[in-house]
Amino acid sequence: MESATQPETTAKAAGNGTAKASATAKETFEVHRPVDGSVIREVAIDSPADVAATVSRVRANQPAWEAIGFAGRRRWLEGLRDWILANQDRLDSIMQEETGKVRADATLEAFYCLEAINFWIDQGPKFLADEAVSPHNPLLKSKRAKIVYRPFGVVGMISPWNFPVILSVGDAIPALLAGNAVVIKPSELTPLTVMEMVRAWREDVGAPDVLGVVNGMGETGGALVDESDYMQFTGSEKTGKIVMKRAADTLTPVSLELGGKDPLIVTRDADLERAVNATAWGGLLNTGQICISIERVYVEEPIYDEFVAKLTEKVKTLRQGADGDSYSAELGAMTSPAQVEIVSDQVEDAREAGARVLTGGRRKEGPGDWYEATVIADVDHSMKVMREETFGPVIPVMKVRDVEQAIELANDTTYGLGSSVFAGDPDEGERIARRIEAGHCNVNDVLINYNVLGLPMGGWKNSGIGVRHGAQGIRRFCHTEAVTIPRLPTAKSEPVWFPYSARKRGLVRRIYRFLNARGLRNRLSR
Ligand code: NAD
Repeated sequence: MESATQPETTAKAAGNGTAKASATAKETFEVHRPVDGSVIREVAIDSPADVAATVSRVRANQPAWEAIGFAGRRRWLEGLRDWILANQDRLDSIMQEETGKVRADATLEAFYCLEAINFWIDQGPKFLADEAVSPHNPLLKSKRAKIVYRPFGVVGMISPWNFPVILSVGDAIPALLAGNAVVIKPSELTPLTVMEMVRAWREDVGAPDVLGVVNGMGETGGALVDESDYMQFTGSEKTGKIVMKRAADTLTPVSLELGGKDPLIVTRDADLERAVNATAWGGLLNTGQICISIERVYVEEPIYDEFVAKLTEKVKTLRQGADGDSYSAELGAMTSPAQVEIVSDQVEDAREAGARVLTGGRRKEGPGDWYEATVIADVDHSMKVMREETFGPVIPVMKVRDVEQAIELANDTTYGLGSSVFAGDPDEGERIARRIEAGHCNVNDVLINYNVLGLPMGGWKNSGIGVRHGAQGIRRFCHTEAVTIPRLPTAKSEPVWFPYSARKRGLVRRIYRFLNARGLRNRLSR
């Protein structure tokens, strides 16, 4: 329960995500530095009772938070924005330490929060405004009808380790502005930056106690599902299904932002230089640990060899290392040791099946969780690297006969998160985009949709349910309430109310016939 920056602990965990039991004290887990595997600190695990206590604490403060209105809430979010600006370097450092990101990637998280706070502050009133509905039936024109957006109460957020802040605090911004209290369960691999921000919300910004954090693994996450009125889950498909099943017990609505296997198509007349640079960045940003990373590349046959050669040359120039605050590397460590195993297994599977590993393809020797930037050519859909989520610094490239085959292969996946198309003619790019089965498609670009906060971001197929961003990105944290209000003074009773009689029902019948039949004769007939 909100152990914040001080661990209330005496029992030690064996490693990331592994807890040790103790008869007397709270269990803890260790948070490691992925660059060398050393321990940063221990964090106390919140039991289901702790989770219930945190939720009930912020729940008690939620009605007052709702009552101060959007203008009142926005003030506190502006306070958080200003606090982030004043503490950005320190936040970047905590983030870098627990994730192993290079500095440039670590800075993205604060940038996102700053932009998101201003976006939701500006757009929220429009997205959450009452919506007038004109009754379709002329007999109901005497009613004012409207849709009213009302907060759920307490929104639970379970988040992954790849963008610990964007995918928790980033989603909490619209949830809070909509009038909810929020409790975040960060990934057990990377809880520290989120804990610091939640601490600052109360202690430095002085905001109402409507934002909490609980720490732990599956048991803590499951308890949060039980206690919340709405669940925002970001993570793997496997855990997403567990969360959805658990939420069924309490009929709690869920939004699931899950994994992806995003394709990128390069047509024969594309700007090759741009396509290569975009593929390298879109596939390797954050060391390839992005749900919307480019994970499969399909290149038309006439330009395949040149594309592969240029991509390999580009990737070989990238620097990997722990760059502190020097901005002197493009790739960092991988955050999760388990993910290094998955990446390694997929690359070996492709190698054994005859694919050519043109650069990288190995773990780095020594301590820490390092895997080299990797380009693999001559892959096909029999290989794991083209079918399963990789979530690491690997770019597999496949030769295709033509655009038709590229589209067919791009859609040959159980995922449907994102995609990109590089084509000489952007209109041709759009025609291809409209045939791809995914939540987004960037023409002649990669990842950029995520920065257009007015666009919904979410997956098709096994990539999830629901969206973040856009109008739905804040409305999802609200019940809709349908309200009708009379425009005119009301009678003591209505013709359709009790008591029934043949005369009254006959009249109602004639009215319904008049309104719904087509052709005057038909309308007037009995
Ligand atoms: P994960 O599913 O292993 O864990 C996600 C979160 O769920 C963690 O906080 C974890 O502690 C918690 N959790 C684990 N078991 C649980 C349980 N039984 N009940 C409740 N919570 C539980 O995912 P990860 O390895 O942290 O993250 C990587 C995955 O996240 C990838 O698949 C990636 O594609 C996906 N992801 C998706 C998006 C998106 O927006 N679609 C963004 C980032 C990452």
